[in-house]
Amino acid sequence: MESALTARDRVGVQDFVLLENYNSEAAFIENLRRRFRENLVYTYIGSVLVSVNPYKELEIYSKQQMERYRGVSFYEISPHIYALSDNTYRAMRTERKDQCILISGESGAGKTEASKKILLYYAVTCPANDHMAALGDRLLQSNPVLEAFGNAKTLRNDNSSRFGKYMDVQFDFRGAPVGGHILNYLLEKSRVVHQNHGERNFHIFYQLLEGGDDDLLHRLDLDRNPQNYKYLVKGNCPRVSSISDKNNWKTVMKALSVIGFSDEEVQKLLNIIASVLHLGNTHFGEGEEGETHITTETQIRNLEKLLGVDGSALREALTHKKLTAKGEEMISPLNFEQAMSARDALAKAMYGRTFTWLVEKINQSLALKVNSKGSSVIGLLDIYGFEVLQHNSFEQFCINYCNEKLQQLFIELTLRSEQEEYETEGIAWETVKYFDNKIICDLIEEKHKGIISILDEECLRPGETCDISFLEKLEGTLGGHPHFVTHKLANGKTRRVMSREEFRLLHYAGEVNYNVNGFMDKNNDLLNRNLKEVMCQSDNQILNHCFRREEVIDQKRPEMAATQFKNSLMKLMEILMSKEPSYVRCIKPNDAKQPGRFDEVLVRHQVKYLGLMENLRVRRAGFAYRRRFEAFLQRYKPLCPDTWPNWHGKLADGVSTLVNHLGYKAEEYKLGRSKIFIRFPKTLFTTEDALER
Ligand code: ATP
Ligand code: MG
Repeated sequence: MESALTARDRVGVQDFVLLENYNSEAAFIENLRRRFRENLVYTYIGSVLVSVNPYKELEIYSKQQMERYRGVSFYEISPHIYALSDNTYRAMRTERKDQCILISGESGAGKTEASKKILLYYAVTCPANDHMAALGDRLLQSNPVLEAFGNAKTLRNDNSSRFGKYMDVQFDFRGAPVGGHILNYLLEKSRVVHQNHGERNFHIFYQLLEGGDDDLLHRLDLDRNPQNYKYLVKGNCPRVSSISDKNNWKTVMKALSVIGFSDEEVQKLLNIIASVLHLGNTHFGEGEEGETHITTETQIRNLEKLLGVDGSALREALTHKKLTAKGEEMISPLNFEQAMSARDALAKAMYGRTFTWLVEKINQSLALKVNSKGSSVIGLLDIYGFEVLQHNSFEQFCINYCNEKLQQLFIELTLRSEQEEYETEGIAWETVKYFDNKIICDLIEEKHKGIISILDEECLRPGETCDISFLEKLEGTLGGHPHFVTHKLANGKTRRVMSREEFRLLHYAGEVNYNVNGFMDKNNDLLNRNLKEVMCQSDNQILNHCFRREEVIDQKRPEMAATQFKNSLMKLMEILMSKEPSYVRCIKPNDAKQPGRFDEVLVRHQVKYLGLMENLRVRRAGFAYRRRFEAFLQRYKPLCPDTWPNWHGKLADGVSTLVNHLGYKAEEYKLGRSKIFIRFPKTLFTTEDALER
């Protein structure tokens, strides 16, 4: 008993539900810290897995470890991402219900690493399908490709995903993976043309310059030094010590071929990547009458060659704008600033659309090729966590909106499933109060009155509109809303601590100030029509696919960025709602990306906005533990002479006999139809201890 206690003191409890002082945030964090110190980076809150990034390689991901977790019940061995993967897989197999694993946490907390470990677990442990032996490979190889094009070094994470990702893995009736499908969300395109100090552009640019062979670079008219490219120098950070661009280049090229990209497609893809760099080095001069012209002819020639477009049309489209007024086409010259932003818009559009094309190609390669009856799905969501930067813009607004939606889903699904379980088992329980963030979701997404609608309206309104007129509209419509604040106070005075360009949202996870500068442009995401026309005429098949003729002919305005994002989130919510969820909550222990450092302030903040204490409260309010009769009997039958070595009667009677013998009091537990529900963890604790003695 003594030694068991000491061990528990040292390594903490492996399920927070077992914490005596479950209302205390300090006790929660202390438990995390103890376990982290012992390299125990995983802990449960019931069925939720909490993971702390160790920032070092742990010896816990081997194939032997995978075998250890196969088919073993969740609570029997130490918490692990493999236990969650296995549990989810078995739930899908036995209950024939689609599953999803939702991974959340802030940048650098370990979401992508977690999702890769889950995928690897399935690729290694699931039976292979004869028709599609290579599917597991293709699933795994999609990661380096998407990371090369969609990840970048940021201040927070050397390999930060700059897009959201949801991946379905389909399994056949024998449990073999047979297909996959990826949905991507809102790539941070602005990074193509600008990076903050200490950050980089997307990895692929540096990989190409560092890893591409001489012939290739010669063909693309590139030289090896990233400092020579305007789109790569903004962050002043060409190399990252933790990253080998050269090795990653090889990995990516190999992955592209495993997935099934032809040599020609890879060439065309690289032509576009190189063209983005040439576009960045395209400069403009101002004539005497303010007209703009291009001063870098080499770049235009390179673009002409690499993209197969007409150089003079491109030159014209970069310096002029085509308008249709009253049915007539007019050409108007762009000033210097406008030409620069037209160029940047083209670079962003080329890159962003190529990324979408990549995802489509990968999907074609992963698509179900055999008719697979009775298949089921496990979905993996690795999407940006709640983000509060010093300067928050449109991107953070979208990211945090996404997190509000996921919180809604969490409330819906956990509380609903908790409630449903008590119902099916015939157990009475009391509802728990929690903050419902629907009011914030409505504030953002409601038709006509929500922030997104107001932004769209302002973008469409003819006449003089700007980011500040958008802010004024927001004030007019939403002033007084309990979760919306600007510098204007209700009494007409000014809140001095807020800038006149900001609005503040009181998110469920905390307050965030958003600067409205750039909101309109980013939401509009416009590309001049004549630039689109030039791209349509390109003889690069990828660009042809990305820039369609119909888009130029059709004058209808496409949906704006925030609305597109909103609609894609709605669809995502539908997909997730139809599945049984499991959660991985990732925590980042320090900002220095270092092993062994546990920054309490930082961790406490994440515990708060991941809603972990709330999570624990909900879990504890009902019954801390539930176990199927047979599992409970199997584990504890040695503790009672009547059930040992075997119980031959009804399972429920066996459990009843066992707990009577153990002296459980009536208020401590309830027997449902197939499970025993134990209210206090202490009860189970004592029983566990008895087993150890
Ligand atoms: P972002 O939102 O920026 O994409 P993320 O949550 O996806 O962040 P990851 O890229 O998964 O974060 O993790 C950041 C880094 O932390 C990894 O590159 C790796 O060095 C380290 N790391 C994360 N999880 C683990 C782990 N389980 N074991 C060892 N190192 C890890
Ligand atoms: Mg990531």
